[in-house]
Amino acid sequence: MSALAAAAARLRQVLGPGAVHDDPYETALLGYDAGLDESPPVLAVLPASTAEVVEVVRTAGELDLPVVARGGGTGLSGGATCPRGGIAVLMARMNRILSIEASTRTAVVQAGVPNLELSRQSASLGLHFAPDPSSQKASTIGGNIAENAGGPHTLRYGVTAGHVLAAEVVLHDATVRWLEAPTGPGGYDLLGVLVGSEGTLGLVTTARVRLTPLPEAVVTLLAAFPSVRAAGEAVTRIVAAGIVPAALEMMDRLTLRAIEAYARADYPTEAQAVLLAEVDGLAEEVDEAAAQVERICREAGACTLRRARDQRDRDRLWKGRKEAGGALGRLARHFYVMDGVVPVSEVPRLLASIDEIAERHGLPVGTLVHAGDGNVHPNVLFNDRHEIERVLACADDIERACLKLGGSLSGEHGVGAEKLHLMREMFSEVDLDTMRAVRKAFDPGERLNPGKVLPPPAGTPLPPRPAVLPGVGRWI
Ligand SMILES: Cc1cc2nc3c(=O)[nH]c(=O)nc-3n(C[C@H](O)[C@H](O)[C@H](O)COP(=O)(O)OP(=O)(O)OC[C@H]3O[C@@H](n4cnc5c(N)ncnc54)[C@H](O)[C@@H]3O)c2cc1C
Repeated sequence: MSALAAAAARLRQVLGPGAVHDDPYETALLGYDAGLDESPPVLAVLPASTAEVVEVVRTAGELDLPVVARGGGTGLSGGATCPRGGIAVLMARMNRILSIEASTRTAVVQAGVPNLELSRQSASLGLHFAPDPSSQKASTIGGNIAENAGGPHTLRYGVTAGHVLAAEVVLHDATVRWLEAPTGPGGYDLLGVLVGSEGTLGLVTTARVRLTPLPEAVVTLLAAFPSVRAAGEAVTRIVAAGIVPAALEMMDRLTLRAIEAYARADYPTEAQAVLLAEVDGLAEEVDEAAAQVERICREAGACTLRRARDQRDRDRLWKGRKEAGGALGRLARHFYVMDGVVPVSEVPRLLASIDEIAERHGLPVGTLVHAGDGNVHPNVLFNDRHEIERVLACADDIERACLKLGGSLSGEHGVGAEKLHLMREMFSEVDLDTMRAVRKAFDPGERLNPGKVLPPPAGTPLPPRPAVLPGVGRWI
């Protein structure tokens, strides 16, 4: 019996026979996330407790196998893929909400709890988990912590980092630690280092998170503009006026036409860009803030303005934004969802660059923007797998345009395997060396999600990007 088969047999005894998979037909399904990269594990396991995760990590250590945590698999940067093989640790059975405490507005959850499930379960107490990635039906709290996920309402409520109070982590040597947010000065913020580390520092098994009161009042507005520049001007003026909307989403023409054809959300298809704005808070504040946003949009040149009449109408407006992925998916057989950031005032300039880059590469690109924080999601549409090199070149040019405008490679989807080759363009070797030292301190053998986030040191060639031309299954 090979060492791997022996390990699988041992883990079956501990985790149960249905919780360990080494059939290549099954592990192949875990070779990709929602991005383009693909590389499968050799073994996939479904632990149901921290103790079982410990056993898996200990076994992986004995065999010197990589360990890659996997939540909902909705990541968009190849983070949960396994370029060096190894064991994929699926958190799907660690899906229990252990407690929700209204008095402290906190919850303790296992890492595999889907984001939306936590908000659903806390709603009767007037609370919710504020980070709301558009993948929230499927993405997990563990995955949100690993990616420091944001969402449309990040503008007001902040990214995941601001909502995690403590995390139980299984480290590379199978020890278990609780990392807590510092309560005062002194000591390092190790929890802060963990959040956003994309599974490279430890496997999150349980988390204590902050819950946020549901707002007393909400107003949702849709403003249509004759140009992207005018929409961008409205965003800049809203931010400059000191208004902090709960959400401020921009969609370009291609995207809003796709949405309207698919979701019938009542978006004006003649516009060049729309803004979906939401203000929330106390009833008396909200009305005034909404009126201010409307006035600013009008002054910036909005051709139409619409205020959602009631919850149903609001849901309809949001349905359009939330189903944008499905809508764009109808325009081409494949689309590549990208992620970059620029200063808010540079969004119109970036969108103009994206148009120029898309034209140069001969590929349609529809862009969604979390406009209040300058986080753009261009979607490169393509039909034929032979176009992939052109798609990747187009994507790299867009990322470089973000860097040129003083932005960054990722707002929320992370680096994963996808953006490794661009990290040296964003960070100096000194910065990268500092990050490598942090990683080594947590995981000296680099067994936790190896080949992600940090490129090898200068002078060492980058490994080939894991199969961006994946197997037939995904292309038929
Ligand atoms: C339609 C769609 C919309 C999206 N919208 C948003 C959005 O609005 N905002 C946003 O931020 N992202 C968005 N994403 C990206 C993605 O959903 C987020 O990055 C999410 O946080 C990933 O969670 P997951 O559970 O699916 O993680 P996975 O994809 O399974 O894993 C992502 C990374 O986290 C690591 N990981 C997972 N679980 C753990 C754990 N327990 N411990 C340690 N590491 C772990 C993995 O190793 C991997 O590196 C979207 C994706 C899709 C497909």
